[in-house]
Amino acid sequence: MMKHKRLVTSLLTSLAIVTTLPISATVFQAPVVAKTTAKATVISKIKKTPDLNPTSSVRSFSSSTYQRYQSTFNKEYNVDQMSLTGVFRQHHAWVYTASPQLRKYLTVSMKTWNHALGSAVFKTGTSHHYTIRVGFGTGGKDGSLWDGLYKTNKLWINKSHFYSNDYILTVLGAVSGRKVTKAKTAADKAAYQNYYRKFWEATITHELGHSLGLDHSPYQDDIMYAQSGERSGSIKYSWTTAKKGNGTFAGFTNVLSERDVNRAKLTKLLGYW
Ligand SMILES: [Zn+2]
Repeated sequence: MMKHKRLVTSLLTSLAIVTTLPISATVFQAPVVAKTTAKATVISKIKKTPDLNPTSSVRSFSSSTYQRYQSTFNKEYNVDQMSLTGVFRQHHAWVYTASPQLRKYLTVSMKTWNHALGSAVFKTGTSHHYTIRVGFGTGGKDGSLWDGLYKTNKLWINKSHFYSNDYILTVLGAVSGRKVTKAKTAADKAAYQNYYRKFWEATITHELGHSLGLDHSPYQDDIMYAQSGERSGSIKYSWTTAKKGNGTFAGFTNVLSERDVNRAKLTKLLGYW
């Protein structure tokens, strides 16, 4: 209360000075104060967007609004800060891998995000200068808990899956719901090789999505798709069955959906990258 009163007094004092000056000498400079939108307005705008898709109508609030309602945005769009502070500097991260095998895929995955976001978010790092390191990992306790994993500033790819000739058949079988047999013809072999390449590109793109603060999605056409999700602080609802989306399976196309891209644009506003 006291502070407010003093502010009013000083405003009156300055006004009194201003009135004594000739009009031409008065320069009014409004203080730059970003307004925080009322909670009801934020919620109502969020409710009007498609499921898990922060379209442009919820991407033009002030930074104080994103700060104030951070947990609401997190929960409504399955996002959260997942990278350590300093991984992104002025909206860029430097990504490095010592593996020439992984580098091929990583380069494509970085381009996938950079192209969609319209800037070089992921830059190629060196062994001396990087903020995200990409390498091989074990795949968890039983070796097949994950294909890729992102944590704080490290990205791992399951080494045994990556080097297995049959693993891609298992994944294709799981996605199609049919038994997928080994390639018999040259055409089949080429098709499987293509699936293999896209699968690992998509896996790294997915993990880079985590670095940007994107959690999982139930939509199969999202790069951030996961088979299941548990409702939490940054997950809107639980799921155990996939949602078809546009019918494609991003895990085999390495194509970002509009939802993926809009969520990444939102996490930038939330300050996660
Ligand atoms: Zn994931």
